[in-house]
Amino acid sequence: MTKDQWGALQQDLKESIGASNYKNWIEPLGFEGLENGVATFAVPTSFLGNYVSRNYGDLLLYKMTSSGASVRRIEFTVPANTAARPASTGQSQSTPQMMHTPASDVLPSAPLDKRFTFDAFVVGKPNELAHAAARRVAEGGEVTFNPLFLYGGVGLGKTHLMHAIAWELQTRHPHLNVLYLSAEQFMYRFVQALRDRKMMDFKELFRSVDVLMVDDVQFIAGKDSTQEEFFHTFNALVDQNKQIIISADRAPGEIKDLESRIASRLQSGLVVDLHPTDFELRLGILHSKLATHRATYPELEIEGKVLEFLAHRISTNVRVLEGALTRLFAFASLVGRPINLELTQDCLADILRASERKITIEEIQRKVAEHYNIRLSELVGPKRLRVFARPRQVAMYLCKQLTSRSLPEIGRHFGKRDHTTVMHGVRRIEELKTQDGQIAEDIEMLRRALEA
Ligand code: ADP
Ligand code: MG
Repeated sequence: MTKDQWGALQQDLKESIGASNYKNWIEPLGFEGLENGVATFAVPTSFLGNYVSRNYGDLLLYKMTSSGASVRRIEFTVPANTAARPASTGQSQSTPQMMHTPASDVLPSAPLDKRFTFDAFVVGKPNELAHAAARRVAEGGEVTFNPLFLYGGVGLGKTHLMHAIAWELQTRHPHLNVLYLSAEQFMYRFVQALRDRKMMDFKELFRSVDVLMVDDVQFIAGKDSTQEEFFHTFNALVDQNKQIIISADRAPGEIKDLESRIASRLQSGLVVDLHPTDFELRLGILHSKLATHRATYPELEIEGKVLEFLAHRISTNVRVLEGALTRLFAFASLVGRPINLELTQDCLADILRASERKITIEEIQRKVAEHYNIRLSELVGPKRLRVFARPRQVAMYLCKQLTSRSLPEIGRHFGKRDHTTVMHGVRRIEELKTQDGQIAEDIEMLRRALEA
């Protein structure tokens, strides 16, 4: 086989694997010659050699053989000054794992937090779907949805779930190249590669992972060249059927300044959100964290009511919730007092104040109107029909319960009604709540939605 024949074969390969794969992987190969059934190619890095060997070795061998050359084996050689293992492929050698370069040798994953495992993740209604999807991906079986896109507000467990997936994959499939990093780190590496004129290496490295996980992808919105590169990396991996897992603080379509073609690509797999935590989940998380604190401070007593109080009073952010518990134990241990409600209020005054959410009358009215499917104008208007009057009373009741506004103030917001009307409405609902399961349920639902 001559250089010319190799040239012709290259065209053929280009058609088989597509222009972009060709450009990334085949074009950089320098054909050195064929001797005793061994075809030798010079490659710029051992990584590229390993990659080509692993992914295109059979194809190369097949194409060369069918073009008439008698090739048994392909070898890749790296210029002597770069420390490298030789990579080869061929019939005589059926140990492809020899060519496998673990990701840690080449592209360090961002460190994973030891605490962020599936075992430590408490599952509840708000996160059960996200958890199930994460579990599925962590099995590392056939790629069924690509990418998995996890989104949700701050401190709801996105990073925790991603680390859990990475841990699980590393245990189940130690040979997989699992790369976890934040979108910010992706950008940093990209910029560095540009600066050092190492884009080829950058592309190679990212295209050679088996599982790519990018956390907080909203970070690259508005950063044009990083988005562009991310898009290409993403597509190249999807084309190879490699699993991608992405997180963001909102849904793909809602990330401002994210190119629409990227947003639509991100939506093409499974999109699941982590909902704001509810009381039960928060309580469950507190219970699960309690064990570690108990171990650290075995001498401390904690009143059962304290956890419920915290789960009620602290917003949806789990990070804040954990921080509160940690501080509570440290504080109690320092002052030598048992952990009861009084201590909790002393110690966490600032957190409790910050997470006290002010619910407004307008919000309540909007939610109630929405819930009963009537117009806001009908809710506050003069009509006395039951279909409007009942929701109106429910709204008044919720205003009384969830805001600190006085009856006359509430009345003013309901079409200048008198405070006695409001009082009557509130009483009526209090009665009905005990007799009518539907009303009780409606109120509970609305209250949760408003407090979330
Ligand atoms: P996000 O990435 O969504 O902002 P994190 O994954 O960093 O949030 O979670 C914040 C903290 O809350 C972490 O310490 C995490 O372990 C904890 N956490 C969140 N959700 C859960 C859960 N369901 N069970 C246990 N811990 C949780
Ligand atoms: Mg995070």
